[in-house]
Amino acid sequence: MAICMICNSKADIDDNNTHEPKIACSSCGKFRITDVALNVIPKNVDPNWRIKIQDWIRMNQTDRYVLITTSVIKTIF
Ligand SMILES: [Zn+2]
Repeated sequence: MAICMICNSKADIDDNNTHEPKIACSSCGKFRITDVALNVIPKNVDPNWRIKIQDWIRMNQTDRYVLITTSVIKTIF
């Protein structure tokens, strides 16, 4: 078990592709996030960043891993 980088819950993380790990999180759901997207999250600006991203992942769940890119981050914040 690993820890979800969005919400800190227990998650399964497949990081065979280190630039775009796949996360199956017990709270967020299934998603992939690019390393660039991870770096542009305004963590120091928005104290609710974890909740906002988690809400977006939940709303966009499909049977596949939803992909979070920098443009998604810009949409959320
Ligand atoms: Zn999570």
